[in-house]
Amino acid sequence: MTLAESLRQAQALGLARLDAQLLHLHALGRALHERAWLLAHDQDVIDASTLARLQPLLQRRAAGEPLAYLTGQKEFFGLTLQVDARVLDPRPDTETLVDWALSLMPEASAEVLDMGTGSGAIALALQHVRPQARVSALDASLAALAVARANGERLGLPVRWLHSDWFSAVPERFDLIVSNPPYIREGDPHLPALRHEPLQALTSGADGLDAIRTLVAQAPEHLQPGGWLLLEHGWDQAEAVRALLAQAGGQQVQSRRDLAGIERCSGAQWP
Ligand code: GLN
Repeated sequence: MTLAESLRQAQALGLARLDAQLLHLHALGRALHERAWLLAHDQDVIDASTLARLQPLLQRRAAGEPLAYLTGQKEFFGLTLQVDARVLDPRPDTETLVDWALSLMPEASAEVLDMGTGSGAIALALQHVRPQARVSALDASLAALAVARANGERLGLPVRWLHSDWFSAVPERFDLIVSNPPYIREGDPHLPALRHEPLQALTSGADGLDAIRTLVAQAPEHLQPGGWLLLEHGWDQAEAVRALLAQAGGQQVQSRRDLAGIERCSGAQWP
């Protein structure tokens, strides 16, 4: 079978053309940016061992597993992260939170905390762009922290990794606290599509706001005067999150839109 034939078969399984191309490159042991190579070689015959690696990957993608888990990597804010089923697959939506956070940390020595860091995506992006900042990141999942720490080591970024259930193991105060917490409602109809990702990184109570309520209640005691709390949330939660921030004494309460135009994060400053 040629590569062209195999790519057509993958699409017949229901895979997007791009996903099919990337899984072929991965099975061939080539870099994922080499799609031009793939197109130029589409009359090459696939050898049996490549096919044996490829077939299960195509099946798993067709069954809904995130592409990032199958290739083991994901681009986030210009960094290549290694990811697997121990952590949420980082979304481009979350780059909105990173942009906002960077605009609030012009000072070289900002103390920043990322809560529920998962793969480390947010913390590593901030540390990469602001090498002078002191970035800490925590997660309640030791399995997730192992992924984050390995990403930090591989990228040479000195983020401090903490095993902590929200603030339980964090005594100090920060200039900026950011989080992409779990925020999906338990029983939400979107959850079956996310079944390959860790549920504890996704759902948070009947209205999806349990983790955000905890963070908004506890963060003010961990902020320096003038510090900001920025939270990612669901597409329909901006108003509720702004209300929680205002009730907790937050000022300059506001939201930011993601690339799709959806209010995707909200934040406030404590005087
Ligand atoms: N953005 C993810 C989704 O809707 C959810 C991430 C999260 O709960 N923090 O698929």
